[in-house]
Amino acid sequence: MTTRTTTDKDVLGVYPAGSHHMVGDGFPVRNMIPGAGVEEQLSPFLLLDYMGPEYFPPTDRRLGVGEHPHRGFETVTIMYQGKVAHRDSTGSGGVIGPGDVQWMTAASGVVHEELHEEEWAKHGGTLEGIQLWVNLPRSSKMSEPRYQTLVSEEIPTVDLDAGVGRLRVIAGQFRGRRGPAKTFSQVLLYDLRLNAGHRLELSLPEGFNTSVFVLHGQVVINGSHAVGEAELALFGHKGERVLLDAEEDVIMLVLGGEPINEPVARYGPFVMNTKAELVQAVNDYQAGKMGHVS
Ligand code: MN
Repeated sequence: MTTRTTTDKDVLGVYPAGSHHMVGDGFPVRNMIPGAGVEEQLSPFLLLDYMGPEYFPPTDRRLGVGEHPHRGFETVTIMYQGKVAHRDSTGSGGVIGPGDVQWMTAASGVVHEELHEEEWAKHGGTLEGIQLWVNLPRSSKMSEPRYQTLVSEEIPTVDLDAGVGRLRVIAGQFRGRRGPAKTFSQVLLYDLRLNAGHRLELSLPEGFNTSVFVLHGQVVINGSHAVGEAELALFGHKGERVLLDAEEDVIMLVLGGEPINEPVARYGPFVMNTKAELVQAVNDYQAGKMGHVS
């Protein structure tokens, strides 16, 4: 008879933001990936920008990022506060607000704009969100672009036992609930909130790249590593169990994914496998082959 024992994952490190900068004129971000310097251990995640939280006074100006391209990966925007409007060259678009997620597969190429939503901007308010870039396997980098709006009501919420908190499954599964995001490789993404003084024992797949990013509050992981606001904890591949003790009310994003073991060539908004493919991407964009926001 064989017995299976659950072993704790090692915490390989806890990292602060690598930089604090503006994206366009509307998104003040703290960059965690690749800024923390451990992006090779975070595949398929290529970028994590934590936007805000920052208060924007009322304005008629359209703040944000104007028309720009992407090819070879997906952009995922998770809103916590405020509203962002998006339009792209495929004719898709929409507004996402607190609790909503926009999952855009740029794949062969999309040109889009990301702006503060007009009515929200006129009243002013606090903006807070996360943008992730999720890499695509080589076989899907040149597939058709796709756009998924995952509104808050579609994202399953699991109430954790006895006031521990709650977990929203954006991608992957948790306790039998499946997140709505369609992905090209296996991805786990949880919006997790724990109440002060409570513990959650989480099981994350062995062999996946896994990490926890803290937006607010402080959590102690495996009894040994304190992780505070705008810090990222990176786990090793071995073992499954992670113990999270909330020192304060804490808001976290749990990230997991099957590593894509392929070469990464990146240049600005393009992420391909080779330099030649990057040159092709720049040429295709400049020739208008990725279209325009109409
Ligand atoms: Mn973009």
